[in-house]
Amino acid sequence: MGCTACPRKCHAVRAKQVGFCGVGSAFRVARAALHQWEEPCISGVNGSGTVFFSGCNLRCAFCQNYEISHGCFGKDVTDDRLCVIFDELIAAGVHNLNLVNPTHYAERLARVLRDYKSPVPVVWNSSGYESVETLQKLEGLVDVYLPDYKYSRPDRALAYAGAADYPGTALAAIAEMRRQQPEDVFEDGLLKKGMIIRHLILPKNTNSSVEILRQIASRFGTKTIVSLMAQYTPCGELERFPELQREITAREYEKVLTELETLGFENAFVQERTAADTGFIPPFDLTGV
Ligand code: SF4
Repeated sequence: MGCTACPRKCHAVRAKQVGFCGVGSAFRVARAALHQWEEPCISGVNGSGTVFFSGCNLRCAFCQNYEISHGCFGKDVTDDRLCVIFDELIAAGVHNLNLVNPTHYAERLARVLRDYKSPVPVVWNSSGYESVETLQKLEGLVDVYLPDYKYSRPDRALAYAGAADYPGTALAAIAEMRRQQPEDVFEDGLLKKGMIIRHLILPKNTNSSVEILRQIASRFGTKTIVSLMAQYTPCGELERFPELQREITAREYEKVLTELETLGFENAFVQERTAADTGFIPPFDLTGV
């Protein structure tokens, strides 16, 4: 039968082969460390306990973490070792366990998290390209959903990620996340339960960004926490995409920001354009693995 855990449904027999996501059944991790560059309500003062999983089921051409998402750099770890990594991050004082790009390990993570019973919130930091059935296995195990909503247009999703079904699939996934965590609960400025939808502004794609904000507003309401990211910097394989070979301009940034304000989002995080620097991409060097 093979794996059908994500919308790719590639049926790989992951005990013997890798799937479209590039990895087998064992966890592979590229970095586990304190991270200060998430939204303030996630990073807090102490930092977020990020665990960067290798491989990816979406594989955008411009991925900012190309080395681990496409290249699958990382080290295989057992379920027990992953729990020790969680323990070590918590002992270091992190505010949460932040599972970065975990979708292709969702079923295995559901089993691990059920036994682990994290004393700090678990953050599901994903591309949004997920199946509702698989997300349902995480109910009660994930406290904060942190999905991207990357593309509103099937043609762009097809061109950049080979996933024309991304828009509808991601919206359905985000609706399931909202169902599981209907309230945003803050304590001392930290998000303990809830959801933040992230969107990375791409150069020459501001009409899509505007459409994305409108869709979020109409489908989930303007109380939804939105995080607008301006950190895009050219990475990956961009020969076919000349429009992606530069950072966003001040004008593009302002256009999307204006739409955010016009729509009346009440809870938004907005990244400065100065964030567009590869210095913000953490080194994938097996730290903490
Ligand atoms: S999680 Fe990976 S192996 Fe499973 S269906 Fe998706 S791409 Fe294929």
